[in-house]
Amino acid sequence: MANPVKAVILRGRKTVENVVEESRKKAEKVVEGGLNTVETVVEAGLNTVETVVVEGRKKVESAVSLGRKTVEHALLRDRGTMQAAVLHGREDIRIEHVPVPEAGPGELIVSVGAALTCGTDLKVFRRGYHARMIVPPALFGHELAGTVVEAGAGVADFAAGDRVVALNSAPCGLCYFCARGQENLCDDLLFNNGAYAEFIRIPARIVAKNTLHIPGHVPLEHAALTEPLACAVHGFEDSHPYPGDTVAVIGGGPLGLMILHVAALAGCKVIAIVKHDGQVEAARQLGAAHVVQTTSIRNAIRETRALTEKNRGVDIAIEAVGVPEAWEEAVEMVRKGGTVNFFGGCALGTHVSLDTNRIHYSDITLRATFHHTPAICRKALDLIASGRFQAGAFITGHAHLYELNRVFEKLMKRGSEIKTAIVP
Ligand SMILES: [Zn+2]
Ligand SMILES: [Zn+2]
Repeated sequence: MANPVKAVILRGRKTVENVVEESRKKAEKVVEGGLNTVETVVEAGLNTVETVVVEGRKKVESAVSLGRKTVEHALLRDRGTMQAAVLHGREDIRIEHVPVPEAGPGELIVSVGAALTCGTDLKVFRRGYHARMIVPPALFGHELAGTVVEAGAGVADFAAGDRVVALNSAPCGLCYFCARGQENLCDDLLFNNGAYAEFIRIPARIVAKNTLHIPGHVPLEHAALTEPLACAVHGFEDSHPYPGDTVAVIGGGPLGLMILHVAALAGCKVIAIVKHDGQVEAARQLGAAHVVQTTSIRNAIRETRALTEKNRGVDIAIEAVGVPEAWEEAVEMVRKGGTVNFFGGCALGTHVSLDTNRIHYSDITLRATFHHTPAICRKALDLIASGRFQAGAFITGHAHLYELNRVFEKLMKRGSEIKTAIVP
């Protein structure tokens, strides 16, 4: 009778084993499913965390950058004032605390890296005014290069950190003269002064028409030569030179030297007519074939003519002094059919007397180039960037803004200084 019991027991064990097996399978399924779910959740979670971290870092970075800009801006603004040279009248420059300018729509604020002294500034210092450019009391100085610290609303071509040269003027683009490409004669030429300062505001029109990016390899003080060089290039090209022409340049000031250097680079034979010893050396270094020093000879006209074949006279004479005697000399130096360029501006009310017979029967062309155009300014910066132009030779000294009066007094004595870079 044991067998039936055994059979029941066996059946019971099988059932238990089946149940256990089923349950284990179910449990394994649940565990596996759970694991998968957990892995999916973890992965999704990780992705979410990474996204959040990346997004967060971006937000933090942009906040930091914005914060830095705000801080920089606040630092600039909180200073409130800056040091600047103010012209009050004849030989009266004062370094004063003036408000740091703010950029209006289309304007730039430039931190001045170098402001160069200039013959025009020296004239203004001596006379106390400039008919077209400056009426005191006024911020002073116009040849500069620097770094943009603030760009006003709507400025697309420049941003903080850009190295720029901002010219001293810009034409209107609308008047009769602008329409004819004679922007230097614009009826509404807008001038900007204030380069002898820590910061300068560049008006919207100059930002739009006459502010140029400086190539990375060009030092700021070299780029600051763009304005006077543009005048020199303009005066030279306006005289319609041909390579090989003999060109007399009267005057050994910064612009006379620049014109003679430009003429020499263009393949002309240059006769420099200068006064001071230092100018003799500079003229030679910058490419003059002959130097006539007016203090050591009797007659500059005869000396200059003697350097041309059969005393014929020069093809082109460019006057770069700005005194009536030199204007008159220039006319006497050119050959028949030659060109005279009265480049140097004389004091208000000055008159000259010229031999009309000579001008008429020798068919002499008289020109008087003034200032520059936007196209010429670009040409001038290109010439500086090319390395052919000896920019370094024109900057013979460096001084701090505080020393500006002393620098101008020294320039009035006409030593060997050409231009001084004023570093604020
Ligand atoms: Zn100048
Ligand atoms: Zn115009």
